[in-house]
Amino acid sequence: MSGLNITLLAGGVGGAKAAEGLAKSPYASATKIIGNIADDDEFHGLWVSPDIDTLIYSLGDQIDRQQGWGRKNETHQVLTELKALGQDTWMTLGDLDLATHIYRTNLKHQGVSASEITERLAKRHGVSVPILLPTDDVVQTRVKTPQGWLSFQEFFVREHCQSDVLDIEYQGIEKAKPTQNALEQIANSDLIIIAPSNPIVSIGAILAVPDIQQAVEKSAAYVIAVSPLIGGKTVKGPADKMLESVGKSIDSKGIYDCYSTFLQAMVIDNLDQQDATWLQGQGLDVLVTPTLMKTPEDKTALLTKVVEFALSHKKQRAA
Ligand code: GDP
Ligand code: CA
Repeated sequence: MSGLNITLLAGGVGGAKAAEGLAKSPYASATKIIGNIADDDEFHGLWVSPDIDTLIYSLGDQIDRQQGWGRKNETHQVLTELKALGQDTWMTLGDLDLATHIYRTNLKHQGVSASEITERLAKRHGVSVPILLPTDDVVQTRVKTPQGWLSFQEFFVREHCQSDVLDIEYQGIEKAKPTQNALEQIANSDLIIIAPSNPIVSIGAILAVPDIQQAVEKSAAYVIAVSPLIGGKTVKGPADKMLESVGKSIDSKGIYDCYSTFLQAMVIDNLDQQDATWLQGQGLDVLVTPTLMKTPEDKTALLTKVVEFALSHKKQRAA
């Protein structure tokens, strides 16, 4: 695959599934990932970066496969003690996981960039596919609910996504600077794959970093998105509510609307086959295939298929 350059834009659980699929495909060495940092927050004085850690733990095979997040073989002694001390412990942070957050926070205090910290953590877990960040600055998603504005983790973990979503903002976004690595990676890509991640708070938060979406729009890369909806429903998580809150429909059209200024192709599940004609009418190439990824084989098969579909259609468009 020499010369080929692939970028995966990825959130947490859906993003990590796609990342693992690419990492085990023939295209692993051609791939770099751009992850989401807008779910980051501070707990017990420690900086936690859930989507980046989900990517690293998944690719390093340290993830709790049942949950899709956190470490396998995890214990919770520290959290139990914090609870006894009267602390809020709704954010489940295991003992092994806490080591990651202690390490990250310590380096952050020494002035080490979030990108560099990510690189060191990835190395510790033997992750060979580079994970780039859209920005080294702090950007935090906030969710407006009938009870008021919540941090993303308050909404997602503490409230179990149960509140209605009235509005979403990315705090700190105006002042955030994109990383040079992310801008160059996007500009030099042949192929940009958008993981089946939440289009608002995962992919949307990456694209909202100044100059990132513009870089995707300007890039000569072929851009293909895997829909996070199956049969018009989310596999997990609040993407449906969030699409609704920003006035998009909860179907392939709503996903397309999030990416319409730069998208060449979309991958939808067999259960959403009826949307293919409409998407083709928008000028998209459409791959209809099973998109539920449960096993390692599912992940590799889907992502290999996505890359092959994209490369052949990119060629056809150039001809
Ligand atoms: P989070 O950061 O952990 O919330 O995860 P992401 O933003 O990366 O992904 C969340 C989205 O992934 C949800 O909208 C799910 O519907 C979608 N998702 C999870 N697993 C699958 C899968 O196997 N196939 C597809 N097509 N979507 C999935
Ligand atoms: Ca996330």
